[in-house]
Amino acid sequence: MEFISFEESMEKLLGSMESSYFYEKVFLDNAIGRILAEDIVADHNSPAYPTSAMDGYAFKFDDQSLERLKIQGILPAGEYKEEEVVAGMCIKTFTGSLVCCGADTLIPIENVEVDGDEIVIKEEVPFGFSVRPVGENYKEGEVLIAQGTKLDFAEIGVLASLNVSQVSVHRKPKVAILSTGSEILDVGQKQTNPSQIRSSNQFTLAALAKKVGANVHRSPLEKDDKETIERTIKDALSHSDIVVTTGGVSVGDYDFVKDILAGLDAEYITEGVTLKPGQHIKIVKVGKKYIFALPGFPYSSTVTFILYVIPMIRYMMGLEPTLPIKKAKLKSTYKKKSNKTEIAVGNLHFVENEYSVDFKGKRAGSSAILTNMLGNAALIMIDKESKDLEAGTMVDFIDMDAL
Ligand code: AMP
Ligand code: MG
Repeated sequence: MEFISFEESMEKLLGSMESSYFYEKVFLDNAIGRILAEDIVADHNSPAYPTSAMDGYAFKFDDQSLERLKIQGILPAGEYKEEEVVAGMCIKTFTGSLVCCGADTLIPIENVEVDGDEIVIKEEVPFGFSVRPVGENYKEGEVLIAQGTKLDFAEIGVLASLNVSQVSVHRKPKVAILSTGSEILDVGQKQTNPSQIRSSNQFTLAALAKKVGANVHRSPLEKDDKETIERTIKDALSHSDIVVTTGGVSVGDYDFVKDILAGLDAEYITEGVTLKPGQHIKIVKVGKKYIFALPGFPYSSTVTFILYVIPMIRYMMGLEPTLPIKKAKLKSTYKKKSNKTEIAVGNLHFVENEYSVDFKGKRAGSSAILTNMLGNAALIMIDKESKDLEAGTMVDFIDMDAL
């Protein structure tokens, strides 16, 4: 088995990604949070005609010096009249009314007094006052929302104003999650012997996948039986874009997942990485799809899912295949445990605009410990070549809140 560095494994994964994945059309009501797959170009000017921004009287600016203007007519919002405003006259308009041909300025109701069929101007306004010009909001031909944008409320409002009812977005990848191991029990399943443990991986990883926007399918747990695991993996692959397994990738007699992958017609991205935890991770690509075979220990599968699967999900969704990596200051020494890239969990603090990490209350032990990830946990990333790190050293960490 060939172990490659963490950096090389990430490079290989990123390099294996297809140039594009899948699109679908969604109705505006379901578009929030989706990633736009097309440029949205304005097909008209907004407003299309000069439009009143207040309730008032539309008139020709040059007539303001007359101080008195005859009310020629009335034009409510939503009505259209091809009526020219006559010199020395005005048309009563309302917010949203079109400003009639010939008029160029609007005097608000508050600035005039009505005297019979005339208005008396009390307070003058500058040229063009309260008239929204053609294209004030946007102009025909403008790219208003670029593809790759995450649709938020403002984008959805703008799409509606463009009369777009359905929009093309990147499809959410389908992620199947399959936990294997003869000792694992599903939540609610009866324990029949003391060596059985509760399986948490399928829930942790499904939650992570959902958190970053994937569609998740949890397969039933599988015992360490080669034929059934193989069948389930192939079945999952047929209806998913990404299959994630946990357990069975190590060197034990019952670690069948690695043998099943070896028997598939698949391209290996990695067979093992100098990474702690997670060195036995295996990633293969089958057509456009991926299988991420993660170790069984909960901390290991969680860390490797975050490192490898989340960037893949993001990319398939039309986002950059990146993680939110930031810098934090170590509050205490970090003892390097191996000559691999290490991912360790600490407590994150943010004080006076600086992130810092300590390890108070974190349990030492095996990669079975998932409780260390509770609370304000930060995953810090220590290079393969690094030795022990002094307090005060700046380290990279993954900002879990920003995933
Ligand atoms: P494996 O990678 O199959 O050698 O599993 C390593 C260890 O991880 C097992 O001995 C269990 O203690 C633990 N483990 C495996 N699968 C799960 C799971 N689905 N949920 C929680 N712990 C697990
Ligand atoms: Mg096992």
